[in-house]
Amino acid sequence: MQPTASHFVNGAYLEDTAGTPMPVIFPATGAEIARVHAATPAVVEAALASARSAQVEWAALMGVERGRILRRAADIIRERNRELSELETLDTGKPIQETLVADATSAADALEYFGGIAASLGGEHMQLGGDWAYTMRVPLGVCVGIGAWNYPTQIAAWKGAPALACGNTMVFKPSEQTPLCALKVAEILVEAGAPAGVYNVIQGAGEVGRALVEDPRTAKVSLTGSAGTGKKVYAAAAAQMKHATMELGGKSPLIIFDDADLESAVSGAINANFYASGQVCSNGTRVFVQSGIKDAFLTRLTERTAQAIIGDPRDEATNFGPMVSEDQLAITCSYIEKGLSEGARLIHGGKRLDRPGCYIEPTIFADVTDDMTIAREEIFGPVMCVLDFETENDVVSRANATDLGLSGAVFTADLTRAHRVVHAIDAGSLWINQYNLTPVEVPFGGMKGSGIGRENSRTAVEHYSQLKTVYVGMSPVEAAF
Ligand code: NAD
Repeated sequence: MQPTASHFVNGAYLEDTAGTPMPVIFPATGAEIARVHAATPAVVEAALASARSAQVEWAALMGVERGRILRRAADIIRERNRELSELETLDTGKPIQETLVADATSAADALEYFGGIAASLGGEHMQLGGDWAYTMRVPLGVCVGIGAWNYPTQIAAWKGAPALACGNTMVFKPSEQTPLCALKVAEILVEAGAPAGVYNVIQGAGEVGRALVEDPRTAKVSLTGSAGTGKKVYAAAAAQMKHATMELGGKSPLIIFDDADLESAVSGAINANFYASGQVCSNGTRVFVQSGIKDAFLTRLTERTAQAIIGDPRDEATNFGPMVSEDQLAITCSYIEKGLSEGARLIHGGKRLDRPGCYIEPTIFADVTDDMTIAREEIFGPVMCVLDFETENDVVSRANATDLGLSGAVFTADLTRAHRVVHAIDAGSLWINQYNLTPVEVPFGGMKGSGIGRENSRTAVEHYSQLKTVYVGMSPVEAAF
């Protein structure tokens, strides 16, 4: 099942062992499970050249033909869900219980959805008296996708599917931490009929990403990553007036009112902090709890968190696995230290587990205040901060007091309050009595420092195509002299 070489370029696997070796570590054991090589300048060149030369013919296909290939790829992914999920688990350390339902399946949804709308993409006709005009929806050209390590299959497809549906080609660079899964997406697209060069994958860290973004052949860049990287990549794209989508980090509020259904609110908070061991950009890591429900909420939260089955992510019973790497684990531990030293009350977890692999307990702090580091900075690990509040006005202004704005949620039985509060929160994705569901039918993306542009839904088409206007004169041309 493992990819047979480091890169996938021009329709086939490609190796160049002159590139820096990149060991792939299974986070549950620390074992090296594969070794790929970062792209050399020759590989970067080959990928961009093949994407460039494939683009015109790919765009010239009818939308229905492009769409058929994407939908076929979706079918193949679904047939191989088990093997692809096992690879995702090895690449990331996420429990197989999660990867079976959230990764390859999500990639298949994106390919199916954008494959389905490829045939209906087009422009408009405008009647201007005798004259008329029309718009054409045209692709941007070569698009670069750059991924984070938490959802390597999903990110590869969330960017690739709309790009290809619109007639673009893509060079995708996965995160250096999780290089394997995107290669399988490339391989399956070719198996489904995608011409060579339409979707390429090359490996490497930031400098390979930078080379792709700065190359004049690149028309668009879509990054999923941290806010800091986003600023650099957005600036590099702007320097050449390139299109950009930035899917960045968050510090999202999850607001629980006294009248919320207690078990649903606890489930929401668990999903919003401990799924994928907390390594989800849209997580609701600031859990604001109204004073009347606080004690009951904390009691049930700690009781239920104690039931987490922490173990080998390959075991289907495990529902809480390791973090992706020693580095990310160390960052998480340092935030837990800060939480303790700044006076937050640790009510569950907080310790690295005494076993091989990057395991840390799901961790809950209560009595967190807005000024604490753990309430202000994205941790990207399984650390939940519970903050108290009294009134709706107070919680809304505190929820918005951040430079980030990816997501948020409210749990309440009061329908009008639910809508009032989500309308007042400055974030791109909001849930009412739910958390972290991101089906392909709905737009996903951030406000403020969490990014620009949207993925998924029909809206993504706007970010992978542009309009060309054609004015048609039907009468002799008049001029002043
Ligand atoms: P990161 O910013 O360190 O890296 C992201 C990607 O950018 C990697 O592939 C990296 O190699 C590349 N990169 C780094 N510097 C670059 C440069 N100068 N030019 C081009 N590419 C460069 O992020 P990460 O640690 O891999 O992922 C975690 C972050 O991603 C978190 O902040 C998380 O919130 C965010 N994230 C956001 C979303 C979303 O959809 N909004 C989804 C998942 C993760």
